[in-house]
Amino acid sequence: MDKSTRILIAGAGIGGLAAAASLLKDGYNVRIFEQAPELGEIGAGIQCSAPAVKVLHNLGLEKRLAEVAVKPKAFEFRLYNTGEVLHRVPLAEQHLQMHGAPYYHIHRSDIHQILADCVLDQDADCVTLNAEVTGFEETDDGIFLLLADGRRIEGDIVIGADGIKSAIRDQIVGKTPPDYTGQVAWRATVLTERLPGNFMDIISAIWCGPKKHAVVYYLRSGKVLNFVACVENDSWQEESWTVKADWQELKDDFAGWHRDIQTIIDNIDKDQCYRWALNNRKPIYNWRTDRAVIMGDAAHPTLPYMASGAVMAIEDAAVLTRSINMNENVPDALDMFQRNRVDRAAKIVTGSTELGDLYHLSNKREFEAGFKKRNVAKERNEWLYAYDPLTVELV
Ligand SMILES: Cc1cc2nc3c(=O)[nH]c(=O)nc-3n(C[C@H](O)[C@H](O)[C@H](O)COP(=O)(O)OP(=O)(O)OC[C@H]3O[C@@H](n4cnc5c(N)ncnc54)[C@H](O)[C@@H]3O)c2cc1C
Repeated sequence: MDKSTRILIAGAGIGGLAAAASLLKDGYNVRIFEQAPELGEIGAGIQCSAPAVKVLHNLGLEKRLAEVAVKPKAFEFRLYNTGEVLHRVPLAEQHLQMHGAPYYHIHRSDIHQILADCVLDQDADCVTLNAEVTGFEETDDGIFLLLADGRRIEGDIVIGADGIKSAIRDQIVGKTPPDYTGQVAWRATVLTERLPGNFMDIISAIWCGPKKHAVVYYLRSGKVLNFVACVENDSWQEESWTVKADWQELKDDFAGWHRDIQTIIDNIDKDQCYRWALNNRKPIYNWRTDRAVIMGDAAHPTLPYMASGAVMAIEDAAVLTRSINMNENVPDALDMFQRNRVDRAAKIVTGSTELGDLYHLSNKREFEAGFKKRNVAKERNEWLYAYDPLTVELV
């Protein structure tokens, strides 16, 4: 496509920034409109597998990522009360050898900052802040992005990377009410220096128990421990990463769990516990009009059980850029992107939902049988991590 094509992106999250970085690298004219008054992400971690890391490396970010990321040795699924290892997914060298890029744990603010720098280094005027997008207006030969303050920005393509409550998605597919899963996610971080020496190996531990599980891994060269815990809880509806909840409720949720979980919870700052209601949305297969398209959580929000929401957003950025490069006109490009992404996204969304059941079984016998039946390591290596958004054939 002509490099003068004007591409307007709603949202400067990980997905919007990755798309902008990739499109700018290929020479397009890109503008991002972000509702927030400043660029940033919350203080939690993100697990990032080879498909996304390859895209980030291709953007020239290998060195900066390696400076801040942790390379876990494995995922260890553990029984909630005894710590018995139920299943192990080797990462580190094996992930690198099998899939051609490392598996990383990264602080969200770090990856967001690295991507924002990558965008702003290429075009210092790319991001407009305080710009809430309300929708778009499409004409025969162009498209306008509509902002809440009345501005109408003219372009050729609109990309909705505006997250789980996307205004662009609402306009393309109509409002699709979320299904509350009856689960909440707690999140908190602990400074490793507060924990006993050699508290945990450099792994990602997924503690599985009745009606809840907790995921624990290191960030920032091991200086910070990230704690995310999903709990069945019918009374909390707030779908926001930034709403605080009572530490005592977190402590009560994990009464009777292994002493390592107690040690982590006891060392969390009591006023720094956040809780987010986990909603689920069924996969959708229509992501576009002739000139507007959605990506990332706007297109395929997912439960976090495969740790692949942000990974998919970064994969989208690469495949969307390639589709734009490979087509002369906008509808064909957006159609190629949608055609090549919907099935993988749907498989991850439904697969993540199913995994929730495995993580929340009732007792040791059920967990041992469940993990014996379902070889998570094999499944993930065969299709989830084996995908390469930079080289996969686009049909
Ligand atoms: C508990 C939990 C753990 C997770 N762990 C992982 C993990 O380990 N690995 C992984 O890959 N994924 C993980 N995810 C998923 C991941 O966080 C998301 O999939 C990812 O952040 C989506 O990125 P995005 O850019 O599409 O959307 P967002 O990050 O939501 O960004 C959207 C951006 O758009 C802006 N915006 C919204 N509305 C408007 C508007 N109207 N106008 C202008 N701007 C707007 C927002 O301010 C924001 O900046 C996890 C999710 C949860 C809930």
